[in-house]
Amino acid sequence: MFEQLKEQPADKILALMQAYKEDPREDKIDLGVGVYKDAHGNTPIMRAIKAAEKQLWETEETKAYTGLAGDPVFGERMRDLVLGGTVDEATVSAVATPGGTGAVRQGFDMIRMANPDATIHVSDPTWPNHLSILKHMGLPVKPYRYFDSETGGVDFAGMITDIVQARPGDVILLHGCCHNPTGANLSVIEWKHVIEKINEVGAIPMIDLAYQGFGDGLDADAEPTRMVAQSCPETIIAASCSKNFGIYRERTGILMAVSQDPGKKKVTQGTLAYLNRQNFSFPPDHGARLVQMVLSDDDLREDWQSELESVRTGMLELRHQLADELRERSGSDRFGFLAQHRGMFSRIGCGPDKVEALREKHGIYMVGDSRMNIAGLNRTTVPKLAEAIVDVGI
Ligand code: PMP
Repeated sequence: MFEQLKEQPADKILALMQAYKEDPREDKIDLGVGVYKDAHGNTPIMRAIKAAEKQLWETEETKAYTGLAGDPVFGERMRDLVLGGTVDEATVSAVATPGGTGAVRQGFDMIRMANPDATIHVSDPTWPNHLSILKHMGLPVKPYRYFDSETGGVDFAGMITDIVQARPGDVILLHGCCHNPTGANLSVIEWKHVIEKINEVGAIPMIDLAYQGFGDGLDADAEPTRMVAQSCPETIIAASCSKNFGIYRERTGILMAVSQDPGKKKVTQGTLAYLNRQNFSFPPDHGARLVQMVLSDDDLREDWQSELESVRTGMLELRHQLADELRERSGSDRFGFLAQHRGMFSRIGCGPDKVEALREKHGIYMVGDSRMNIAGLNRTTVPKLAEAIVDVGI
């Protein structure tokens, strides 16, 4: 039977990581893989997480199963972190999932159960894993225009023209903040417009929120998600704790389904728990428990927020430094969008030949679509990158 299996495409980012490792140049720069790195290139365990882990080790008395939805307190704390009390809790169903990816996958599974004919409309470009999971599941996908490589911003007119083509019951997948891979985001006014159009066509919004706290702050980054959940009859939210709690390998995320009709909660909650049961049974607990502890304890929470805030502002400073260096070296404002972008990524908007030239000539590694991880930089490497970008003629 195994002879029937075909070789699957290699993950491009993992291949890039390997090439970086093998590059002997000492001044090489890794802007590839999507994990946060500090100025020394490390991905530290956050202080509050380390403290919670210590406490947990001292106090945890059992590793017996939790519940199919995970510990309900984790669900409540995450619901409050994401939705901030803006929607009635009686309208929110939630289950813990293995990471944000698990939440995205379960969200798609729920859509397939509810409406197998739904087309999922995704931004062009989107996180490649959205496309590969949808393909694997055989769900119909349609891209909507999103990134304008001329301006480095959002092609808003194109986006609206495309999403109004959705049929009632289709799903519009949106990045809640810090769009991956482009870094370009909608303004609050643009979000309002998108919500209006989604409601006009009778589509269902699904929000992927993987970087809350990495853009403009915890509340500002959740604002669009809150607006959608308040304004649309039904909303699906897949949130990840990997980045904002720095617990990538613990696999911690949450899937929420909000229906303005509280009468739907029993069946919706039951469906989400059923899906967990079918796919992996009980969700991982360790990361979820750490998040729950940090969010429940005033001191831990304050410390976590302040560390997250320095991660966020550190990335913003690098963005501004890079945009300034490029303005000076290129004598133009055409890279100003780098300071407007938010989150860990920016798509610089050049072709694969220039990406290759950066790698070959300068030892600078970014993903083939010209996505760079801003957190891979530090104050000393920013000028080198700016020089290289101008040198290869981007
Ligand atoms: N959605 C997006 C847009 C992402 O960038 C990521 C992380 N790369 C995820 C979801 C899921 O992250 P994880 O499964 O590691 O929590």
